[in-house]
Amino acid sequence: MARHTDILIVGGGMVGTVQALALAQQTQLSITLLESDPVTEFTVNQPTELRVSALNSASRALLSKLGVWQQLHTNRIGHFDTMTIFDQHASLQFDAAETGQTALGYIVENCHLQWAATELISQFSHIQVLSPATVTALSGQTVTLSDKQSLSAKLIIGADGQHSAIRQWAGIHRQTLRYQQHGLVAIIHSEKPHLNCARQRFVDGGPVAFLPLADPHQSAIVWSLPVATCQELSTCSPAAFIQRLHEIANMDLGELQLLSARAAFPLQSHHADHYVKPGIALIGDAAHGVHPLAGQGVNLGFQDVAALTKVVSEATHRQRHFADVNVLRRYQRARRAENLVMQHSLTGLHHVFGFRPPLFNQLRASGLHLLNQCPPIKNWLVKQAAGKLDR
Ligand SMILES: Cc1cc2nc3c(=O)[nH]c(=O)nc-3n(C[C@H](O)[C@H](O)[C@H](O)COP(=O)(O)OP(=O)(O)OC[C@H]3O[C@@H](n4cnc5c(N)ncnc54)[C@H](O)[C@@H]3O)c2cc1C
Repeated sequence: MARHTDILIVGGGMVGTVQALALAQQTQLSITLLESDPVTEFTVNQPTELRVSALNSASRALLSKLGVWQQLHTNRIGHFDTMTIFDQHASLQFDAAETGQTALGYIVENCHLQWAATELISQFSHIQVLSPATVTALSGQTVTLSDKQSLSAKLIIGADGQHSAIRQWAGIHRQTLRYQQHGLVAIIHSEKPHLNCARQRFVDGGPVAFLPLADPHQSAIVWSLPVATCQELSTCSPAAFIQRLHEIANMDLGELQLLSARAAFPLQSHHADHYVKPGIALIGDAAHGVHPLAGQGVNLGFQDVAALTKVVSEATHRQRHFADVNVLRRYQRARRAENLVMQHSLTGLHHVFGFRPPLFNQLRASGLHLLNQCPPIKNWLVKQAAGKLDR
């Protein structure tokens, strides 16, 4: 017979783990979190992980409210208070001081954040983490695991990433746009300090971002490239890789050195037609995915967490059935339109910067130049990227 829990979260990536913690803190419901890959302990002296995320102010506010931010090692949190976006013709600068913000964003290793949230979860007796545990089937409100155990729940939250099986088993369709690009990530050392500036250069083939880490001479790069070029740059010698990086993105950082392995991820944008069904809700990449050029993916996921937690906890306080589809639709209304706008904006930016005709390049350069002279629009853009702080 299936074991029962009030809420079952499938997928303990950053979004699923933070969702479990938020619900544990704000409700008395029994929660089970299932994750295929066990989280490994993060230690402050370990080398910088390849996967990092640029987090905005709204994510920081949510993580602080949950106590996760305070668990992070401060000497492993990077931040940027300026940002430069440029191509060969023009540039655009943002400065936190001009917009009244303390920082434009923070850079945190994914495994660091996940470990900090996992540590906090272990303090709650009404939440159980099963890992390694892989869900292999969904039937009604019951899931089956690879070891044939079954678990049933009033609410099943799909936090199982872009290939979400929960979304597919629930029969929820999605729209997908494949960019024919891969994102190459690596950690580099620079001769000159990064001065807490995030740099993004648009070059033929796609943007390359330098995200400043806590070490003033280390940056994480995210380089969006056509698939074949990415394959070539992932496997060439470190010296050849660094030379290419210098050629295309020669900035003000002096000599560069490769400190890590390189890894590549296919880039796509997708959006589920619905986020909810009776007894089911999708969050994070299970519901939507965007191009990483603006570092918004997990930030949108954390805003899903804030919205779903609010809807579920309000329903339980009012003694309403929290898994009722009319309750869950409030979550969908709070998030879907906003995520869709971000998705289309980033796809638009990807096309604007990927478009090569010379006349268009000149227009784009003039546009960037004008935008750079216009503080109100820049402030508005910074506020959009910072996310909503009022949940
Ligand atoms: C190159 C690159 C750079 C990026 N940079 C940024 C950035 O700077 N800022 C930002 O905000 N976003 C960024 N993103 C996006 C961000 O990484 C994702 O939005 C985020 O990781 C999504 O988290 P998630 O928890 O929703 O999904 P995932 O991280 O995919 O987690 C899903 C989890 O579910 C588990 N799972 C899957 N299926 C099952 C199953 N059947 N049973 C049990 N468990 C299962 C998986 O093991 C996994 O742990 C970037 C993405 C890429 C590719």
